[in-house]
Order: sequence, then structure tokens, then C-alpha cells
Amino acid sequence: MSAKYDNLLDYTLSELTELVNEYGEKSFRAKQLYEWLHKKLASEYDELTNLSKDFRKKLAEEHVIRPMQIHDKLVSKKDGTVKYIMKTSSGSIIESVAMQYSYGMSVCISSQAGCRMGCSFCASTLLGLEKSLSAAEMLSQIYIIQKDMGRRVDNIVIMGIGEPFDNYEQVIKFLRMITDENGLNISQRNITVSTCGLVDKMYDFANEHLQVTLAVSLHAPNDEIRRKIMPVANRYSMKEIKDACIYFTKTTGRRVTFEYTLISGVNDSIECAKQLADYVKDMLCHINLIPVNEVKERDYERASTDAIVAFQKYLEKNRINGTIRKGMGSDIEAACGQLRRQYSI
Ligand code: SAH
Repeated sequence: MSAKYDNLLDYTLSELTELVNEYGEKSFRAKQLYEWLHKKLASEYDELTNLSKDFRKKLAEEHVIRPMQIHDKLVSKKDGTVKYIMKTSSGSIIESVAMQYSYGMSVCISSQAGCRMGCSFCASTLLGLEKSLSAAEMLSQIYIIQKDMGRRVDNIVIMGIGEPFDNYEQVIKFLRMITDENGLNISQRNITVSTCGLVDKMYDFANEHLQVTLAVSLHAPNDEIRRKIMPVANRYSMKEIKDACIYFTKTTGRRVTFEYTLISGVNDSIECAKQLADYVKDMLCHINLIPVNEVKERDYERASTDAIVAFQKYLEKNRINGTIRKGMGSDIEAACGQLRRQYSI
């Protein structure tokens, strides 16, 4: 028999049912197996105690159940944020981050090893794209962190390395499996997917009818500035992004989050705030202002505190929701835009 996937975690419940039947086992075994893998988070065949030794042996001949391993771990002295450096079974390095808040634990996962979007302020894109991650490799980041931290993952943000919509199918599969009631059953509303604005995929995403939050990395108030810092802006205009966001809200009833990284002298003037306010004024949205985090290969400067506060005040005055994102874990290079696929510590 040739296996559909190398990793058992890649099988959805219905695919697992087919597999179990092919091995001559009853269908209910699939549910047991799925729960072992996705609810009890087993990572060794020995743990699957209510399945026969013979069945386990057959499964193990064709599948592994550990797509990722912890390669190293760094803990922030500032805020307790933990950065996990993980290695895929094929040897790629990626990073994931666990952030602890009073209301629960939030985990930021990577969707690709590297990135090919080329945003000029981001470390993740420096070495290009090595590979897209499978659903199993994304699930595994959550499972490993939940086990290692000894606490439930409450929120997930797909804001680590990579462009999730450049790996669309696997990201959707991941979302369906992580929210499955037979697995960790994480609420769709507690998950955010962030894109640099691949407009075609934004429409597809709206049509999935998920209650997941869509975040869009805007970072500029007009196409001219956006093209200078984000190559993807040459493919799609801000008008096209806006239309896709309006469609998303119409289809799902959910507001969109815009991410706006404040870079000194590039996009932090009051004129920029004014143009941004005009752009979003008739939309159901929230703006996340992110003072740019340091990436040593780049020489972008953080906007001054005065400029950040003035920017936010301007939005507030125009009744636009805007919050300044706290840079968690910046002392261990775990903050937005600091994750990379090369491990050099
Ligand atoms: N590719 C997706 C997912 C990455 S999410 C996207 O572009 O949305 C990571 C967020 O951090 C994005 O909004 C990204 O633009 C932002 N970011 C990248 N580099 C940054 C930096 N140096 N400082 C602050 N934010 C940064």
C-alpha cells in the first residue's frame, strides 16, 4: 500500500477513516486515532494504547507522527515570551512564539520556511523561500508548544515566517483541523490569519465562510509609498485590497484588521495618518500600529514616540479604531518581522 501522506497528522478524519478501512480496521478506530493525535497530542506510537500492537506496527511502517522537533528555545527576560526554534523532519528551521497574557496564551506560528514576498523591513524574507509547510507541520507547532508550556493554547495568529496565502490549501486545511471538535477545538474567532494582501486569495478566503479574523499588512497610506517597501504592491493596488476587504466583511460579517508598521520618515507623518484615515473611513476595521522592530540587515528607524502618539491621536479624532501593538519578546528577536529561517544564535 502506498501512503497518501508520510505524516499521520496530515490525515483529516475522513481521510483517516479511509486509511483505517484499507488496513481492515473498523471505522471507529479512525476517530480513536484522530483523538490520540489531535486531542491527546500523542507523539509516539507506544502511547496509542487502545489500538492493537499489530495495527500500530502497520501504521508505523508507512507513517511518522512527529513532523517537528524543538531545536532550541529562548525565553524573554522582559515579558516571558518564549521563542521556539523548530526543525521539520526534512531539516528546515522555522520559528514559533508563545506569548502569555492575563487572558490566556497566544501562539504565533509560521506557515512557510522563509518567504518570497520581499517586504523590505522584514527579516523572514531575507533568504527567500525554502518550502511551504504542510498542515501537519503547522499543527505540530501548536501541539508542541501546548505540551511544552503545560497550558492550553487559547489564541493562534498565523503571523510567523511566511505568507499564509502563498500556501493557501495547507493553511485552510490547518484551520479546519485545529478548529475540529475531535481535535483541539479552538474557536475560529480566536484565530487570525495575516496576509500581505494577495487579493485573489482574499476573495477565496472570504468564500470559505470561516469566522477567522483576517489581518492585512498595509503599512502605507498610498500605493506610491507601499510600492517602495512592499514588492507585492506592484501586483495589487490598495483599491483592490480595499474591495477585497469589503467583500470579506460582507460575506463573513467580520471586521478586518489592518497592520501598519510605523517607520520613521517613511510612513509616520500626520499627512500619512490623514490619507490612512480617508482610506478606511467607510470600512468596518481596526488598525494595529506596530512601531517597526529592529532587523539588523536593514536600517529602518522606529518612528519616535511623539510621532506614534500623534499618529494614533489623529486616527482617534477621526473615530478610527487604532491600537499600538506591544512588541513582545523583542529581546530574543521574537517580535513581528524578526523571525527567520536561519538559526544563528
Ligand atoms: N506574510 C504575512 C504574515 C507575516 S505577519 C503578512 O505579511 O501579513 C507579520 C507582521 O509583521 C506583518 O504585518 C508584517 O508586515 C509585520 N512586520 C514585518 N517586519 C516587521 C518589522 N521589522 N517590524 C514590525 N512589523 C513587521
